[in-house]
Amino acid sequence: MFLDLDSGKLYVFLGGLILFGLIELWIPSRRRPPQRLQRYCFHAAVAALNTVVIRILVFVPFLLWAVHVDEQGWGVARWLGLHGWFEILASIVALDAFDYAWHRANHRIRFLWRFHKAHHADTGMDVSTALRFHPGELLLSGLVKAGWIAVWGPTAVAWFLFELLVSLCAQFHHANIALPSKLDSVLGRVLVTPRYHGLHHLTERRFGDRNFATIFPWWDALFGTAVKSVPGDDAKFGLPEDRGLALAPLEWILEPFRSRNLDLASSTSRQQSGESGV
Ligand SMILES: [Zn+2]
Repeated sequence: MFLDLDSGKLYVFLGGLILFGLIELWIPSRRRPPQRLQRYCFHAAVAALNTVVIRILVFVPFLLWAVHVDEQGWGVARWLGLHGWFEILASIVALDAFDYAWHRANHRIRFLWRFHKAHHADTGMDVSTALRFHPGELLLSGLVKAGWIAVWGPTAVAWFLFELLVSLCAQFHHANIALPSKLDSVLGRVLVTPRYHGLHHLTERRFGDRNFATIFPWWDALFGTAVKSVPGDDAKFGLPEDRGLALAPLEWILEPFRSRNLDLASSTSRQQSGESGV
């Protein structure tokens, strides 16, 4: 059963990648990033590394943990007596709220930012950007999320559906897709769209330290971290100070462990430039 679910998640992941990749070719919102072949190879290598490391160290143990929590009847969802589709929906919302808080913490806490910056160092943005997470961030996220699973207590089915949804939503909102503006504004009320998440990746930090939501955009509105401006054609993606990390595999993997990331001065200047609103 676990192997079937594990394979199922992989198929959904690959299906989403192909689907959103084709839509990118059909209705791109901006010119495709330079160094395409090098970039896709880099992102594919990161995905392959993460698929092996994370499936073994996080996904399968996590699934077993979710089943264990489910069988033990732990967590708030159980104490509230939630069940059926209502439990699944409530758990997806609760887990997404956790993801919002976790993502925001990744931008606010220096230790976590060391890993998360690997994702933001991409100087382009398309569906392949959803692949470039540092394995250290995924491991840390898995550990912290295991605690949240025990606190909330989703059923294993709810947790699995949430993981599938996160995977598809991350591919969608990183994709280089120009949705018609009316569709974007209607869909954007319930789902994080490419335009909305694109702002989160801008080099200009006053945008980049906003729009943390993964599935539902409500959390940003609720906690005052939403921004909805439309970037101009000259908008740049990535990190102004770490552009060398975009496509350098060894630098990229070692970056979290460099001593310069402990430098208080650079952290302070970063906070002054973009994090003053929170
Ligand atoms: Zn981020």
